Amino acid sequence: MRPIVAEISEQALAHNLAQVRRYAPHAKVLAVVKANAYGHGLLNAARGLKQTDAFAVLNIREAVTLRDAGYQHPILLLEGVFSAEEMALVDRYRLDTVVSHHMQLQWLLQSQPNMPLRVYLKLDSGMHRLGFQPADYQPALDSLSASANVSEVVLMTHFANSDLADGVTQAMDIVAQVMGTQAYKRSLANSAAVIQQPHTHADWVRPGIMLYGATPIAEKSAASLGLSPVMTLRSALIGVQEIAAGESVGYGSLFTADQPTRVGIVACGYADGYPRHAPTGTPIAVNGVLTRTLGRVSMDMLAVDISDIPQAAIGSAVELWGNLVPVDAVAQASGTIGYELLCAVTARVPVHVI
Ligand code: PLP
Repeated sequence: MRPIVAEISEQALAHNLAQVRRYAPHAKVLAVVKANAYGHGLLNAARGLKQTDAFAVLNIREAVTLRDAGYQHPILLLEGVFSAEEMALVDRYRLDTVVSHHMQLQWLLQSQPNMPLRVYLKLDSGMHRLGFQPADYQPALDSLSASANVSEVVLMTHFANSDLADGVTQAMDIVAQVMGTQAYKRSLANSAAVIQQPHTHADWVRPGIMLYGATPIAEKSAASLGLSPVMTLRSALIGVQEIAAGESVGYGSLFTADQPTRVGIVACGYADGYPRHAPTGTPIAVNGVLTRTLGRVSMDMLAVDISDIPQAAIGSAVELWGNLVPVDAVAQASGTIGYELLCAVTARVPVHVI
């Protein structure tokens, strides 16, 4: 067996969910488990997060997977339905749905559910992605609240800049103008707003990344926010090279040693989801000791500096990210965010739930 594995900690998921409740003690939690739970495996994540009040997924397939596995929680479709026909599945699987444009509104109003549905009405508060424009919001709300198909409307928006105080203030001005003091429940905050903007917590918070123990705020580490990494990407050394000063490592000879260097070859490459653009110097741990990658990441392997880890040998344990090496540190070195790296772990990496 190739030694790479993604270990998923159920305990860390439960801990991070408890942290959400500490940050937002008065709100209910919609745990965002879209994108295969940010790469952690939908059902693995759901088990660790079973104390949540509700789940949020992207599409009906994910929702049905949760229902078929026995989850009775409310499940919200974050993008709503993609056709009139899908409304029958929303009814059959007792799903909650976002309505963010006029066609979704018509499909819902014209459907014939056995039971009235809970609907989240999405406002565009400046992201200009999905959601009703401020001028169109009240008419949509009026038709939903007048419909026998609807049991409850929750007012919702998603912030374009939830990690920036000014960005949230701007969006909240629009929210205040449009939603006013209406007596409906609201859902506004994702992870960064859960952590930094208590005035946005409202009735339902929608954390994603913080549940997986990565940071939503570039300047703050996950550890400093009290979050525990859920995924540890582990592998092992499958080769050791001693190179002389002037010799290079890997495709393109991007790293050239300026002194004799011991190089470990790790069974992990971009076909496992490790970022190809991670430069020399990206943090990595061998035998529990922090060190750095060397040269270009290839499809199935990457190289590490083990000059200062004399006991490192073929078979030595490597942590690509996890407790010793925050996924956010690998992301930062590679010019991306933890979200992308977690989502990008590929299907050939076996997953072990611990
Ligand atoms: N709500 C919506 C509508 C989203 O699209 C997302 C994620 O993209 C989230 C909540 C969760 O965001 P985060 O992972 O930053 O907490």
